[in-house]
Amino acid sequence: MTALADLSAHDLADRYARASVAYDAFRARGLTLDMTRGKPSPEQLDLAAGLLALPGSGDHTTASGEDARNYGGLQGLPEVRALFAGPLLGAGPEQVVVAENSSLAVMHDCIVWAMLKGVPGSERPWSREEAPAFLCPVPGYDRHFALCEEFGLRMLPVPMTPDGPDLEVVEALAADPTVKGLWCVPKYANPSGEIYSAETVRRLAAMRTGAPDFRLFWDNAYAVHHLTGTHHAVPDILPACAAAGHPDRAFVFASTSKITLAGAGLAFFAGSVDNVRWYLARAGRRTIGPDKLNQLRHLRFLRDEAGLRAHMGRQRDLLAPKFAAVTEALDRHLSGTAVSWSRPEGGYFVSVDAGIGTAERIVALAAEAGIGLTPAGATFPYGNDPRDATLRLAPSYPSLAEVRAAAEGIALCILRAAIEAERAGRHEPGPNA
Ligand code: PMP
Repeated sequence: MTALADLSAHDLADRYARASVAYDAFRARGLTLDMTRGKPSPEQLDLAAGLLALPGSGDHTTASGEDARNYGGLQGLPEVRALFAGPLLGAGPEQVVVAENSSLAVMHDCIVWAMLKGVPGSERPWSREEAPAFLCPVPGYDRHFALCEEFGLRMLPVPMTPDGPDLEVVEALAADPTVKGLWCVPKYANPSGEIYSAETVRRLAAMRTGAPDFRLFWDNAYAVHHLTGTHHAVPDILPACAAAGHPDRAFVFASTSKITLAGAGLAFFAGSVDNVRWYLARAGRRTIGPDKLNQLRHLRFLRDEAGLRAHMGRQRDLLAPKFAAVTEALDRHLSGTAVSWSRPEGGYFVSVDAGIGTAERIVALAAEAGIGLTPAGATFPYGNDPRDATLRLAPSYPSLAEVRAAAEGIALCILRAAIEAERAGRHEPGPNA
């Protein structure tokens, strides 16, 4: 297909007319489709139906003979830590804490405690620093950015590269002592799917930081969430930091929200001996102990690492066709345009770079056609995408038929906006001509 930029004014107008007819026909179908958030579908949750009957009446004794119904066990059952420590956190079981159901809540607590108390290595609480800041790879996870905004951490955007955050920028900014942390989703990044390279991990662990209490907030949300037969590996951050002489640099987070049940899974924190001691000292003020029956339930259900991997294979069987449907529609409608999109090999999102000044327009066109998209700008600090170009597509929740329909509609919206932008760039009649 001829690139939009190479079309004559006449052919471009013709292309626009055809794109508009296709869009209008789609809109006339009167569908209601939601591609806004990366929620597991009911079918994915059904895969964990067996959990609801576990551990079962009478099964409440842990490996060491404790009664899981009672208070206590702040760090989590050792047998549960042993199951998840390697695959989700790249840590030893003694470096892991099992929290309640949400890793976002664990991140929230770490930020609040850092602000109020400081972390190991802090000279003072972060809130008493002059304008503390976090480095935010963009596009990134909107809820990470919301945490920073909530607690007054300045956000400094860092461009992503296919290998992870741009290290030249990270290293330059991290030299500033007011920079306290860096958000990282090292595997199948939210939203653009990047996988950090070994060199990225090594340099993040080794770099010089201005703040002695700098932390990598290593959110391993998609550690085992593969969409292809290639199970990509990222070097474990905790040993990398220890080897580089910065054993306390990383706080590692993960959960089973997108393994078992999004609202009733297990969340984890992992870190160095000092970081785990710090975390438990704070957590012990907050709770007398976590829900250990849910821990036992997960252990009984998944059993071992092989059980965990087999379960993720069933998740992949449900998810991969939905991602393929999105890619297929984008390929079919948008090849030959300057629009680009991720082809994630894991995780929950497709990210589209639709071209400067188009994202808000596309979200509005999609809304008119009955498709809910994540607001333009959501994947940037303060909701501000300076290029107004990035869209996040979340195909997990709707049925495959709905994803196919939504992908078709979204591709038509993007195409229409791309032609409008091309014509506006040439000062030709715009959308209402
Ligand atoms: N981190 C990332 C990168 C995510 O994409 C998500 C869910 N969308 C979360 C954390 C939330 O995890 P949890 O359910 O454990 O709070």
